[in-house]
Amino acid sequence: MPPYSPASMNGPISEKLFEAAKKLIPGGVNSPVRAFRNVEGDPFFVRRAKGCRIEDVDGRSLIDYVCTWGPAILGHAPTVITNTVHQVAKEGLSFGIPNPSEVEIAKIIVEWVPSVEKVRMVNSGTEATMSAIRLARGFTGRDKIVKFEGHYHGHVDSLLVAAGSGALTHGEPDSAGIPRSFAAETIAVPFNLPERIEEVFTKFGHEIAAIILEPYPANAGFILPQPGYLELLRALTTRHGALLIFDEVMTGFRLAKGGVQELTGITPDLTAMGKVIGGGLPVGAFGGRADIMDQLAPDGPVYQAGTLSGNPLAMAAGLAQLKELEKQNGYQRLEAIGQRFEKGLRGIISEKGLPYRLNRVGSMWCLYFGDSEIINVDSVQKGDFEAFKRFFWASLEKGVYLAPSPYETGFLSLAHSDRDIDDTLEIFAECLG
Ligand SMILES: *Cc1c(COP(=O)(O)O)cnc(C)c1O
Repeated sequence: MPPYSPASMNGPISEKLFEAAKKLIPGGVNSPVRAFRNVEGDPFFVRRAKGCRIEDVDGRSLIDYVCTWGPAILGHAPTVITNTVHQVAKEGLSFGIPNPSEVEIAKIIVEWVPSVEKVRMVNSGTEATMSAIRLARGFTGRDKIVKFEGHYHGHVDSLLVAAGSGALTHGEPDSAGIPRSFAAETIAVPFNLPERIEEVFTKFGHEIAAIILEPYPANAGFILPQPGYLELLRALTTRHGALLIFDEVMTGFRLAKGGVQELTGITPDLTAMGKVIGGGLPVGAFGGRADIMDQLAPDGPVYQAGTLSGNPLAMAAGLAQLKELEKQNGYQRLEAIGQRFEKGLRGIISEKGLPYRLNRVGSMWCLYFGDSEIINVDSVQKGDFEAFKRFFWASLEKGVYLAPSPYETGFLSLAHSDRDIDDTLEIFAECLG
């Protein structure tokens, strides 16, 4: 079994920068998972990223399976996007008044995403989910939101609740600074257990504004819904006059043009989007049924706004990414890349007689260091996290960068060539087991 040797692996420039960062930025990072706490090490600093590789400030080059947590679906810094951004920037960085690219991106989203008849652009996935649940509450006149344990929807107050086991107890906040009374409006349920969600609707059905979920949960590893489960959520919400909100910030524009709703044929009322849609710039969006979206200001009573929403640079980057995906037949190609990767990794696992489980759809995957069936966050927590940590550090040492946490999904991009995949698999074969 390879040794694991955390922070010592970073070069001197990264080490110095992290020391400085810790004095100036809480925890030295602007988003907590970047701090490498789940692998008990320190982060390295990146100087540049191109294609499937990132290069750190000490000159180390790594094959990247994080892809900036999903957005870099064409690979890092694709020329189509960087050229577009350069061009558009010369015309102005922000107008604060409508610009044509907002109409163009809205048209593509409405065409591609089955549930979306109208859409509004925001600046992050968090803003998208926050706005979607406000809209659901405004539209239904109800307060309670149902979410699933281990599903991440950004750092929105009433969604930072996982609530332990009791489906019928009200949520406790996961973070300091969230009033208990906000969290009390959130009911957190374990995913993939039909009787638990049925129980919640039997008891609170008339008070529930919406269910929000990641239809393919990708923030507790990568989990798939059991057959019939999404259909059940659709039926329950319809029967009780609640809305169904798909958080496709991760899966939207990554698994298919229309995300999980296209793959499964289940149509939510509202959808939150982000990540891939911004081409690497800060973009989110939420959309859905026109009668619901029309409740937003200025037409309706639900207030939502943004100084930089629909920003011309961000819209141009997103448009360039989406058009390039279409032009390159991106989703079919990503599936082929995913198949090659999966076949190789499964081969290694079975050759070594490891009990590990691999989930993959298209360009998203997660290797679980355990042998229990993965249906929700409880099953993820049964994994061997020490084995994950050894694998993470051993792979990094040999030039492969994986997300620094066993709760994250891995991403492939169109820039991962057959050669890159084969090199990675060779490294995995040395680092696993
Ligand atoms: C990343 C993510 C968010 C939050 O998006 P940010 O842009 O980080 O605010 C919300 N939902 C899901 C499913 C995500 O993966």
